[in-house]
Amino acid sequence: MPLQAVRPKILGFISEQASAWLVALVVLLAGCTLTGIVAWATHDLYQQQVRQRFQLLVNERYTRLQERFEDQEQRLNSLRRFFLNSQQVSREEFDGFTQPLLLRARAYAWAPRVFREQRSEFERQVSRDRGVDFVIRELNTAGELAPAPQRDEYVPVLYSQTQSLLGSPLGFDLLAQPLRRATLERAQKSGRLAVSQPMQLVGVEPAYAAGVLLVAPVSNQAGNDPPYGYVMAVISMRQLVADGLPKSPRDNLVMQIVDTSDVQQRVLYESNNVVADSPLVGARRLTLGDHVYALTLRPSKVFELANHSSLSAILIMGGLLSLLLSALLYVLVSQRQRALKLVEQRTVQLRLREQELRGAHGQLRSVLNAATQVAIIATDLRGVINTFNAGAEKMLGFTADQVVGKLTLESLHLATELEMRSAKLGVALGKRIPASQAMLVESPDSLHEAREWTLIREDGSPLNVNMLGTVLLDDHGLWVGHLAIYLDVTEQKRAYEALAARDRLLKKLSAHVPGGIFQFTLEPQDNWRFIYASDGMRDIYEIETGLLQQDAKRVFERIHPLDVERVRASVRLSALQLSHWREEYRVLLPQRGLRWIRGEATPEELPGGGTLWHGYVSDISDLKRVEEELRALSITDSLTGIHNRRYFQDRLRAEIARLNRTHGALSVIMLDIDHFKRINDKHGHAVGDAVLQELCARISQRLRRTDVFCRLGGEEFMVLCPTTDAEQAYSLATDLWQSLRTAPMDPVGVVTASFGVASWRGDEGVDGLLLRADSAVYVAKQAGRDRVEAERARA
Ligand code: GH3
Ligand code: MG
Ligand code: MG
Repeated sequence: MPLQAVRPKILGFISEQASAWLVALVVLLAGCTLTGIVAWATHDLYQQQVRQRFQLLVNERYTRLQERFEDQEQRLNSLRRFFLNSQQVSREEFDGFTQPLLLRARAYAWAPRVFREQRSEFERQVSRDRGVDFVIRELNTAGELAPAPQRDEYVPVLYSQTQSLLGSPLGFDLLAQPLRRATLERAQKSGRLAVSQPMQLVGVEPAYAAGVLLVAPVSNQAGNDPPYGYVMAVISMRQLVADGLPKSPRDNLVMQIVDTSDVQQRVLYESNNVVADSPLVGARRLTLGDHVYALTLRPSKVFELANHSSLSAILIMGGLLSLLLSALLYVLVSQRQRALKLVEQRTVQLRLREQELRGAHGQLRSVLNAATQVAIIATDLRGVINTFNAGAEKMLGFTADQVVGKLTLESLHLATELEMRSAKLGVALGKRIPASQAMLVESPDSLHEAREWTLIREDGSPLNVNMLGTVLLDDHGLWVGHLAIYLDVTEQKRAYEALAARDRLLKKLSAHVPGGIFQFTLEPQDNWRFIYASDGMRDIYEIETGLLQQDAKRVFERIHPLDVERVRASVRLSALQLSHWREEYRVLLPQRGLRWIRGEATPEELPGGGTLWHGYVSDISDLKRVEEELRALSITDSLTGIHNRRYFQDRLRAEIARLNRTHGALSVIMLDIDHFKRINDKHGHAVGDAVLQELCARISQRLRRTDVFCRLGGEEFMVLCPTTDAEQAYSLATDLWQSLRTAPMDPVGVVTASFGVASWRGDEGVDGLLLRADSAVYVAKQAGRDRVEAERARA
């Protein structure tokens, strides 16, 4: 089943990486949308709450203001009742009554009606009562108080209780002013409280000047008569509305009061705090006297600040949360994808493994069947065979069907061999080992070692095999049987025996061959090794063959120091050129002393580099001695025992060759016995021989160690004098000459000889030198014999 079919994908239609992005994006969008909705709902709720709070504030403010308005009305009404209930109200009584009433009113005043005819009397009486000059006054065009002109009626202020620092406008005629007059008239007409149009109050601080006059008519007890005066309250709108309320910088509301009956719609009061940017507005109606005031309330900045919206906080928090959530989801999704990818990879790997295992299993089975040269037999725990491969069939002649489940391993073995083995094991292990398991039990001294056994074929013939037995364990490590692997070793045995026979032959042969034979290798890392060394090698080097095979360099310790480098070099050269090695050298042996050895070997190149020699060494000391004797003979004159002509010629040639390299002197002295023939003739040949011998003895005695004395033949002799010039040679020749002639030789008497000297000249050959010596002798003979002829100077 394909993996993709099982694996749930987050978004099946796009790539996995993109789906992680998409999920994150969708979540972010959803989060932002949700945040928007919540923010909108919150904002809505907030608006509603603000509106409610504002309404509450408006209602509370309105109630408070209305109460204040009504309170003013009640206070004025109480003053009016005070006048109604009193026959006469004195100034002191007025003051005493109005003092406590002065709350949120600028002033209370009493103004009686005074008619034209009463005016002077009235002015006089008041002047008297007050003790100051009193005149009914009015505001002139300059805005100053001046005595009022004659009119039918006056309503001058008589008593006044005021908070103002400016004092009361005593005597001010209210009828002189149209606004006040209209109010008084309305009050008179209705018999109830009347309020003036907004006006600038007189005798009040400018800040409090905008206000109204609240007027109540006072008539007699019955109340039906026209009033005889008016009580009034001077109300500063600001004082009435604003005092006792929060100061405008802290006020939540912005108030505005307008008289609805005022055609000019003048603002009676307006708080001076800043209006908030809000559509909220509250409109109420306040009544005072016969007027209705429009109260407009708006939220102030303070209100706005106190009720600010949490919208932006919600938006920021929501946005951040969405972002976080989408990032988290992105990480989760991409991690999941990574995990899935990992699972996929692992599954692919596992499948590959499984295929490999299956392949390996198949291979194992093929190997089992293909191993036709090896018998592989497995048994269960009882020893009953359950696997019998093609090799086993071929080796033993049974078919698998004949064996599997029917025969035991024991039945294939030679019974006597098993019994012997089980007895031996019993002794070694100290317990009884049944014969049926003898082939499987290892003896304590050999682990996993292949052992030779004899199996019995189907036809009854024996078969020599090597067996390797192991225990079979199942997956849980439990012992389930045995596995035995058999190798037919008949051929191997035969080959081994043939080899052994050849080895014996070699041993015998080498024992009868003088010297030793060997196989020797020189490996690339300068490893010198004897592969084989016959017993003869021991006699040659006086080293045990075992030691030689361990370390061939021991041989070099035996070789004479003067020869060892030559031998080494020749071995290396032979390896380099693959040339036949042949060398004669001396060895210094602990027992037999100095011996001469000859070695010969043929090299061949080894496949891995290195060289293998097959060769022999033999002791040639006897041969060398004979050779030496022969050589001595060949250069010695047999009669006189001095060197012969051949030796003279060899030495002369060698000396001249040396002179050609080094320069220096060389001379020869030639001598010929005088009239020797006569000696022979007179005394016989034997006496002649004796004379020759005596002469040689005498001459030899006189010669230096470096001089070489030779008999050229007959009675002619030659002395070779290296590093000797003509003069020295002449002197020597004279000495020799004297040695002969000064003493007689028995029985012949004095024997003399003629001497000729010649010295080496460098530009001539051997023959030239000898010819000159010969000529010198000839000259001596011619001159009368018995003398020395010196070297002739050059022509
Ligand atoms: P001269 O002074 O001219 O040399 O006279 P000579 O007799 O020595 O002359 P010559 O050289 O002709 O003779 C040499 C003789 O030496 C001839 C020979 O018989 C003799 N002779 C050569 N070899 C031997 C030898 O080995 N033993 C003996 N006894 N005589 C020899
Ligand atoms: Mg002669
Ligand atoms: Mg002679």
